[in-house]
Amino acid sequence: MNRFPLSHHTRRGRRNLTLLATVVALGLAATFGLLVYLDDPVQDLSYGQFRRKLAEGGVSSARVGPAAIQGLLAPASPEAAAVSYRVSRLGMEHDEDLIRLLEAHVPNGDYDAEPAPSPVWTMAVPTVMFLMMVAVLALVVARSGGMGSALAFSKSRPRVYGADEPRVTFESVAGHDEVVAELREVVDFLRTPGKFQSLGGRIPKGVLLVGAPGTGKTLLARAVAGEAGVPFFSLSGSDFVELFVGVGAARVRSLFARAQAKAPSLIFIDELDAIGKARGAGGSGGHDERDQTLNQLLVEMDGFDADRGVILLAATNRPETLDPALVRPGRFDRQVVVDRPDLVGREQILKVHSRVVPLADDLSLRQIAAMTPGFVGADLANLVNEAALLAARRGKDHVGQPEFEDGIERLIAGPEKRQRLLRPDEKQRIAYHEAGHALVARSLPQTDPVHKVSIVGRGAAALGYTLYRPEDDRFLHTRTALEHAVCCLLGGTLAEEIALGEASDGCTSDLSRATEIASRMVLDFGMSPVLGRLRYSGDGDAARGYSERTAREIDLEVRRIVGEAMTKARAILEDRREALDRLADRLIERETLNAADLDELLGR
Ligand code: ADP
Ligand code: ZN
Repeated sequence: MNRFPLSHHTRRGRRNLTLLATVVALGLAATFGLLVYLDDPVQDLSYGQFRRKLAEGGVSSARVGPAAIQGLLAPASPEAAAVSYRVSRLGMEHDEDLIRLLEAHVPNGDYDAEPAPSPVWTMAVPTVMFLMMVAVLALVVARSGGMGSALAFSKSRPRVYGADEPRVTFESVAGHDEVVAELREVVDFLRTPGKFQSLGGRIPKGVLLVGAPGTGKTLLARAVAGEAGVPFFSLSGSDFVELFVGVGAARVRSLFARAQAKAPSLIFIDELDAIGKARGAGGSGGHDERDQTLNQLLVEMDGFDADRGVILLAATNRPETLDPALVRPGRFDRQVVVDRPDLVGREQILKVHSRVVPLADDLSLRQIAAMTPGFVGADLANLVNEAALLAARRGKDHVGQPEFEDGIERLIAGPEKRQRLLRPDEKQRIAYHEAGHALVARSLPQTDPVHKVSIVGRGAAALGYTLYRPEDDRFLHTRTALEHAVCCLLGGTLAEEIALGEASDGCTSDLSRATEIASRMVLDFGMSPVLGRLRYSGDGDAARGYSERTAREIDLEVRRIVGEAMTKARAILEDRREALDRLADRLIERETLNAADLDELLGR
């Protein structure tokens, strides 16, 4: 509900005025309302009674709160005074049907629902809230002399925040140069939508920021709005979880309406996966709410005109779980990966956050960065904070190495946080794994060139990755190219085995991709001499059944292809063992290597 003008997106001055007015009004309302409340009894109804009344058309307004439903009953006769009712919802499950009933039976759509409360909210404030609510209710009733339009409950609105926080620019974002460069285009567009268009630029509509929590996605979005000087409307996907059916969709609608009214503007949806999960995924039914919200989001994205200057940014850590409809052209068709920071990145982030902190002269932020592999921006911001607090507590006027070291220990105390920091032996293993991928790729002619190798991962887990730059104009892959791709995929786990004695479990996705390529070679591409040039899988007419014996042969052929690739990759790695060591050592030291670094280390 909308008692809190503070959450509105307005300028500070007006905001304060509104706030003052509201406080005064609430005060008056409380005093006055209480009086009215005393001789205007509230009828307590059970949930069942309420539903029955509702279905009979006996309810003229309703406001569904976290703990109770209340409103006015329809008067028995035109002259009779309206009677308030109250229904406790404590311990009630969410009733998916309720909104439908309300829609059907409450005149003029005079109902409103609110999301499930946070625990503090439920425990600490309910009594006061209830009194205030009744007070406001009573005031409104008294003012308008009764009922009907009296209960013009405001519709719940999307939470819009960040507007009054200090303006953020790209200066505050460290270590994301590539991402910033990409987002500058969005800034340019927001600054002068018209000009951009007349130059024939393709207007970005939705940009998806992909990266682990705490890597600075929200910060980047705020910086885009700050750089462009446009309003920033932000909402988190998890705000929609556990809402009544229909409310999430209404919020999406309202969010877009408000952003459009203030265009040019920026909308940011954090945790997009919370609403954007593929529809129908996850079994157990009951996803109505999410589906409706998602549908509404799609409708709004298609409906709004990008030329008006509204741009949508969203963040997720799991782009693969998103509904395919969301990433179609014209929606979130641009993805920007926000990496975990490498050594240099971490140093830069530490620098940004310690700008206002007096540092000891002999402190080396590079060294602190070297001690914190696996930390993301949010961790590093915390670390600077923690170190500064420790220094203050120790009565020092400068923050030094000991404070940072103790700060790191504090931050990683506790078993679950400890895995934030990459253990040295894991760092070495990841380095060999990625070096293996890269070395095999560089040793085989028919593979995509390696663009970047890194041992700071991009996903939820802090594992590494090797990026290939596919040749853009290639549509067809020869049998050799596919075999080589399988070799590259196996290079990681093989390098671990060769250098460290045994492989680890960090290879599942490599193996499943290798298996997939090998299977398709046999099933789809007719590349197995044993099975011949037939297609064994496929849909509709192309599908052909095959015997159990053929199924066995298919298995054997897939295994043969993977086995041969294994032999080949192993030979390469054993052959170039010292190059593998060199690569891994450099990775441990620098954490990311680009194509030029690889040229330097391995020769062309
Ligand atoms: P995300 O949205 O990716 O979860 P946030 O943007 O909320 O991460 O990051 C939380 C905080 O961590 C930021 O407000 C900022 O103080 C700090 N931070 C994260 N990444 C960076 C970065 N690259 N540069 C500077 N500060 C960062
Ligand atoms: Zn791998």
